[in-house]
Amino acid sequence: MTREGAHPSPPSGALAAPEDFPLLAHEAAGDGGLVYLDSAATTQKPSCVLETLDAFYRTVNANPHRGAHRLGTAATEALEAARRDVARLVGADADEIAFTSGTTCALNQLAYGLAGLLHPGDEVAVSLLEHHSNLVPWLTVARIAGAKVRHIVPDRQGRIPDDEIDRVIGPRTRIVAVSHVSNVLGCIQPVERIVRAARGADALVVLDCAQSVAHLPVDLHVLGADFAAFSGHKMYGPMGVGALYARRGAAVALQPLLRGGGMVEAVFEQGFTFKGFPAGLEAGTPNAAGAIGMAAAARFLEGLGMEAVHAHGETLARRMAAGLAAIPSARLYGPGPGGAEERCGIVAFNVRGVGADLAAHALDRRNVAVRSGAHCAQPLVRHLGAEAVCRASAGVYTSERDVDRFLEAVEAARQDAASLMAAAML
Ligand code: PLP
Repeated sequence: MTREGAHPSPPSGALAAPEDFPLLAHEAAGDGGLVYLDSAATTQKPSCVLETLDAFYRTVNANPHRGAHRLGTAATEALEAARRDVARLVGADADEIAFTSGTTCALNQLAYGLAGLLHPGDEVAVSLLEHHSNLVPWLTVARIAGAKVRHIVPDRQGRIPDDEIDRVIGPRTRIVAVSHVSNVLGCIQPVERIVRAARGADALVVLDCAQSVAHLPVDLHVLGADFAAFSGHKMYGPMGVGALYARRGAAVALQPLLRGGGMVEAVFEQGFTFKGFPAGLEAGTPNAAGAIGMAAAARFLEGLGMEAVHAHGETLARRMAAGLAAIPSARLYGPGPGGAEERCGIVAFNVRGVGADLAAHALDRRNVAVRSGAHCAQPLVRHLGAEAVCRASAGVYTSERDVDRFLEAVEAARQDAASLMAAAML
């Protein structure tokens, strides 16, 4: 059904061949064409994922868990096989994974679904590194409950120090919600330490794994979190699908956010009972093609090996950080090139005297795609003393040659930005 397993060889320094990613092949990446360094926003998709999506709609398309006919059964089986594959990638069991439309949806489900545990005076601990999707839902439910959101503050490298964890997590903490990997700085957070502190305070732990799942070996049983969220599109899968992990035993604390077809056990004129996890959280027709595509992406990553994926990202991040540190007009944020910190293939920087958006435009003129702005993490970007930063984020298709072309573009960015400004004024 797909070409899984039949991949062309990657160029030197890449882990997967850009030609195996139709968009990158179309853009002639790796040969003076596009250098795509916006993988933290969304990754490009390998052929095996695209072919899986296509094959679902061409050969299986039916509503899962709703029909006794042959295609309905095939769709149900494909969806449940996808659940097993996605679970395996993160060290979970299939019945601990509910499909959602993405990380934001899963985190909202968690915040609203756990809101009943919050009472006046209670606290929700988050870090100052959080993506808005792991902050705004908690601010909302805490306000409704009369509870307070407290922030664990990272150091200049973006790492969370032990004493900060102990300062913020205490007897009033009910929920701790932190990201595994910062989407701005790429640093890996000390999740096991945070989980230990939360256990000591009898608090539940929610992990935002949107970035980590694509970059690191993630074993949710080993990490010990109660809940986790991640997105298909950031791990080489499709947009519009993601997963919510609930540790067996923790799911009972969750109230379903979306209610309707598929999640109910019995419905009466004046009431209803709903199914247990995960079906109880999957109201409505699921994005079955998306889930099956996400599972193809999980198998693709397993095929590469998550240790190798992590080593690849770390090597490229160190190359980017070292190169940026050597460019006088560049300012690097977060972990330095020689830092002992564990990190992923994500680097934040600015070009001195040039706004982040203009710098990103200047890089784009040289066919280097980076993202600029606050990256949905305004409190962190303010903490870094900036209004906006540029972010270069690598993928498995990124080569050392791509990084070198990126660094050349950064070096030329001041000059290029001045030319862009001059052209705009004509
Ligand atoms: N959390 C983190 C750390 C992210 O990087 C992102 C997306 O950039 C999200 C949450 C939100 O993910 P999505 O837009 O897929 O819902």
